[in-house]
Amino acid sequence: MMVPSDLPALAQTLLARLGVPAATTGARLVISPVDGAVLGAVDNTPPEALDALIGRAQAAFLAWRAVPAPERGALVRLLGEELRRHKDDLGQLVSLESGKILSEGLGEVQEMIDICDFAVGLSRQLHGLTIASERPGHTLRETWHPLGVVGIITAFNFPVAVWAWNAALALVCGNALIWKPSERTPLTALASAALLARASVTWAATTGRPVPTDLSSVVIGDARLGQALADDRRVPLVSATGSTRMGKALAPRVAARLGRSLLELGGNNAAIVAPSADLDLAVRAITFAAVGTCGQRCTSLRRLIIHHSVRPALMARLRTVYERLRIGSPLVDGTLVGPLIGADAYQAFEQALEQARAEGGVVWGGGRVTVPGCEGGFYPRPALVEMPGQTAMMREETFAPILYAVGYDTLDEAIALQNDVPQGLASALFTTDLREAETFLSAEGSDCGIANINIGPSGAEIGGAFGGEKDTGGGRESGSDAWKAYMRRATNTVNYSHALPLAQGVRFDL
Ligand code: NAD
Repeated sequence: MMVPSDLPALAQTLLARLGVPAATTGARLVISPVDGAVLGAVDNTPPEALDALIGRAQAAFLAWRAVPAPERGALVRLLGEELRRHKDDLGQLVSLESGKILSEGLGEVQEMIDICDFAVGLSRQLHGLTIASERPGHTLRETWHPLGVVGIITAFNFPVAVWAWNAALALVCGNALIWKPSERTPLTALASAALLARASVTWAATTGRPVPTDLSSVVIGDARLGQALADDRRVPLVSATGSTRMGKALAPRVAARLGRSLLELGGNNAAIVAPSADLDLAVRAITFAAVGTCGQRCTSLRRLIIHHSVRPALMARLRTVYERLRIGSPLVDGTLVGPLIGADAYQAFEQALEQARAEGGVVWGGGRVTVPGCEGGFYPRPALVEMPGQTAMMREETFAPILYAVGYDTLDEAIALQNDVPQGLASALFTTDLREAETFLSAEGSDCGIANINIGPSGAEIGGAFGGEKDTGGGRESGSDAWKAYMRRATNTVNYSHALPLAQGVRFDL
């Protein structure tokens, strides 16, 4: 396939098909990382407009919470149908705006569809517990209720899937939403919102009542809008995805008003390769995890901890594979590595490699690749770096395709290295030794929210809870019981007897 030469025209065509009016006149320019072209221009949301919007979202919440959950699920089912219908268009737009390869752009939309399916089922399963009461003639149970307006702040690298993780669950849980997408990727956000608006029209026609006005909206702007959401008492939950720096700035603001935050922050993910590892499988898994999405996933593999006995063989194989990586336009079939998001990301990539050399590293790869027709894009050659040990700079997340390798002798040493970073998102062990695998997954093993065996740290399915510990923020989203973060829990005691026994045998005779 040829690279489409007029990306702005393609973006506007896709937007029109997705139901977004022409986005060409606003103050905020949207730059494609593919070739540096201006894809469009959108309006910023003024801060005072956000204030009024939160008020309207709260009114929408009061109406939506009274709609039975399975009916709320029907709206999310319709959103899933719109996404199925427009998967190609939205997937392409994701590639244009975020620079990920087309297959990953489509995969991101598939992830939205998957979470919609999950949430539809969930809409009939928002159940609490019935608990044995210590008092005769009493029942004890818990119920789950909608929370209110949920603020959703998202990062550029998963411009739409992270919204869908939050939105699908929050909507079936009975909440209203306000989404502040990354300022780098507003077009895909407007497109996703347009699909939800279409689903809302169908829902209204089917149920005979409208979806409350401003149940879900998008605000466009930078960190200041995120801060306004963080500070507003009418937003009981702020779910924020992005860098640890962002989380550390945002969380104290939400906490200052005793609100809740759900944080999905940076990772610094490692894989351990043990002597018994299947190296064929490990090479493929490591390469996908390290260079996929151009190293711009929160779960990207950044550190390789290799047993000394297999280190030379594995590194030689990885160098061979790295030399063959197809780097180029993400819109061309067969490309494996696309561009970084922009010049600042490329500069951070170069600086990290310089620092690695200063700390004793030997670097293979690095540098900028010129892609014909995409000269305005920042295409890095993924780097493999042999380090003398886990030095200071390896403890930081550089959002680029750099894979540092260190050696180890014992599994305890490898696990200690894996855990000795501030972040705690995703981890992996390649081994065919059951004892090693179970040790890694035990309480004394990986300290991450995600711990895998014989599969890389990236590429999670929506069925499990997603998130990490320490500087990754502690939040859990997506599957399992992550929905509970979007609801409030009430404990109910009902006395159906004629007596009034007090708990713990307390006597209070009048
Ligand atoms: P970023 O932190 O620069 O921005 C993320 C979002 O936060 C944007 O919408 C931004 O406008 C907003 N923001 C920034 N500062 C803010 C503040 N002080 N208050 C409120 N909002 C603020 O991140 P990015 O460059 O877009 O994305 C890359 C980062 O996101 C990486 O660190 C990556 O690991 C992380 N990430 C984490 C996950 C996860 O699930 N753990 C998923 C995707 C990305």
